Amino acid sequence: MGKRYWVEEVETIDRDQLEAYQLEHLKSQIKLAYEKSAYYKESFEKAGVTPEDIKTLEDIRKFPILTKHTIRERQNEKPILGDLVTVNEEKVVFISSSSGSTGKPTASPFSKVDFDEFQEVESRLFWQAGMRPKDRYIHALNFSLFVGGPDVIGAQNLGALCIWAGTIPTDRLLFILQEYQPNIIWTTPSYAWYLGETAREKGIDIKKDLSIRTIIVAGEPGGSIPATRKAIEDLWGADVYDFYGISDIFGACAAACEYHEGLHIAEDHLLVEVVDEHTGEPVAEGERGEMLLTTLRKEARPMIRFKTGDIVTYTNQKCKCGRTHKRINVVGRVDDMFICGGVNVFPSDIEYTVRNIKDLTGEYRVTVLTDNHITKFSVEVEKRIGAETTDEELVRIIAHELKTHLGIKPKEVVLLPEGALPRATHKAKRLVDIRTEK
Ligand SMILES: [Zn+2]
Repeated sequence: MGKRYWVEEVETIDRDQLEAYQLEHLKSQIKLAYEKSAYYKESFEKAGVTPEDIKTLEDIRKFPILTKHTIRERQNEKPILGDLVTVNEEKVVFISSSSGSTGKPTASPFSKVDFDEFQEVESRLFWQAGMRPKDRYIHALNFSLFVGGPDVIGAQNLGALCIWAGTIPTDRLLFILQEYQPNIIWTTPSYAWYLGETAREKGIDIKKDLSIRTIIVAGEPGGSIPATRKAIEDLWGADVYDFYGISDIFGACAAACEYHEGLHIAEDHLLVEVVDEHTGEPVAEGERGEMLLTTLRKEARPMIRFKTGDIVTYTNQKCKCGRTHKRINVVGRVDDMFICGGVNVFPSDIEYTVRNIKDLTGEYRVTVLTDNHITKFSVEVEKRIGAETTDEELVRIIAHELKTHLGIKPKEVVLLPEGALPRATHKAKRLVDIRTEK
């Protein structure tokens, strides 16, 4: 038996000590932002706060919230890094760039210290997911500008044999999986599914011809939806570990452990707030709210109360694995949420339901529409080949299960034959919004 933790004293620290540590670093991070960044100085002054106002962790709530929009604006005004940075460009060694799915991409700068600490966190999370130096790891994430690209260095620093695959054609990836027999892979949940299905179609016996024992996934909530995780695990005969990352922070800053009861977030680097997305008030443990993140140790660009756009639940309870850092469950993106009949609906809620019905393939598409001035949604699903339930009965079951889980019925359930919905090779687009009124 080797060591259980990457850095035991950090991962299993008492919460009191952790919070004392966070407070000390929060003070210096806020001070750094105020003294070295023109943006923060201006925004703190506007809000009437100074670094001296931080006496407890809760005092963070007096400080202004930072949005993606502001980062974009400040980078447009002062290219290329904007005036949130606290160092000269000569100290910056790396930038990642966000996907730009909600506008012009923004650059996320790292100093040498930031980058090394980022990789140290990756090593910790990989170790937590069971990676050891004897493992062969294939990194099948995008290397082009994407913050998850360099995470492979964390695996390498841990001592694993690393294969820098990137996003290559599926045939080529399957060839590498056969040729080099890696036992750990990282990709998105939809692609893990697609890759497994493609392998099977090509006559590859996944459990015999390949050696994958662990699949790390990120980028979509699927990895934490039990039925989705189980479907991928059954297909591959492997364990699925969900990771969570964000371009403006780290490639991954939270990850599952072997108990899969939420993702441990690196609280020695981040102060986590979960707030009601409308009122900004903190929500209780177990309740859904938007996650705000404040960096505690970033040297090149502190992020103070960054609005992540992710809806999560959290718990501060110590995990069965002995780790004490907060655990989060990502429910979905604020942008993907729609309100129907007074209920907040996320595509992941629909996924949770359709993946649990055995006569369906698990693929789905949600369409949000306006019907007589009211927001409604319809769901398209695929009936599995060989399913014995009649179409009529299946539609009835789906509508009933959706109503039970969401508290609201879909306008329509459309049953399609297996294979009718498009398969995603990266992030699946499962929400179609054709509302004429919002
Ligand atoms: Zn744990």
